Amino acid sequence: MKIIRAAHLGMCFGVRDAIALALQHAKERPLTILGELVHNEAVLTSLRSQGIRIAPQPELVETPTAMITAHGASERAIKRARGLGLNIIEATCPLVDFAHLSVAKLVRAGYHPVIIGKRDHVEVRGLTEDLAEYDVVLDEKDLDTLKERARFGIAAQTTQPIEKVRHMVSMIRQRFPNSEVQFTDTVCQPTKQRQLAALDLARNSDVVIVIGGANSNNTRELVTTCGRYCSRVFHVQDAAGLRADWFFGTSTVGIAAGTSTPDAVIDEVEERLEAFAREAAECTTELTHPLSLVATA
Ligand code: SF4
Repeated sequence: MKIIRAAHLGMCFGVRDAIALALQHAKERPLTILGELVHNEAVLTSLRSQGIRIAPQPELVETPTAMITAHGASERAIKRARGLGLNIIEATCPLVDFAHLSVAKLVRAGYHPVIIGKRDHVEVRGLTEDLAEYDVVLDEKDLDTLKERARFGIAAQTTQPIEKVRHMVSMIRQRFPNSEVQFTDTVCQPTKQRQLAALDLARNSDVVIVIGGANSNNTRELVTTCGRYCSRVFHVQDAAGLRADWFFGTSTVGIAAGTSTPDAVIDEVEERLEAFAREAAECTTELTHPLSLVATA
């Protein structure tokens, strides 16, 4: 059984930088992160083990300092947290900042903002909370909720697949032929690279293992992408989630991983797959050994 890794996989620079910033501040003062810094249980457990607290909202923070995650937050949310007397550190990824700036620019230019993404995702809440009016759409059926506007300004959650985003933009153009539709591509480069690499991997694998947190949007998108070219795609959070029977009769296993998956977790999954491969090879050797053939004849 051959094991191959996607050309691009695992933790992106935005998540790495946010973790480094949290660890650096936590050395100097008690720190609470507002919400999940990343949607990955292994990373969160490691942060907690180093004394960092995690609270879902500013009212529940018990340390003087709180950190905004890489997913960003609205000005309104940051103001509210400061209003509670909290010292706020921002670990917002620069590519999420770019999405905020792009949406603000579209609104200033008179476009009605439409975000392609998940309405209840923390990044999308951050992108929309400061807006007086907006729409969030994820798939074609959501387009029924859009009213005709003279000008639509479209941006996307940074972790949406770019192909799907482009398709949604063209659907909006078709549905509202009299409207001016301006699209700013805010899907981040690491997401694009991982999506493209996952497609290539799925085309060349019998089984694909996608590693990432159960709540990780970009990991779930990778599962969907791989599923278009490979019928056996499994999502695991870590090596403990693997099952030997997924790999019977398999010649190539591909590994992909979301942007919040640590290298150590990817390495553990690969090691476990190598162990399965060794066991499968030993099993085949035993079955094809001349003595075993005599014994079963
Ligand atoms: S997934 Fe993209 S936008 Fe999100 S933290 Fe990583 S690089 Fe930044």
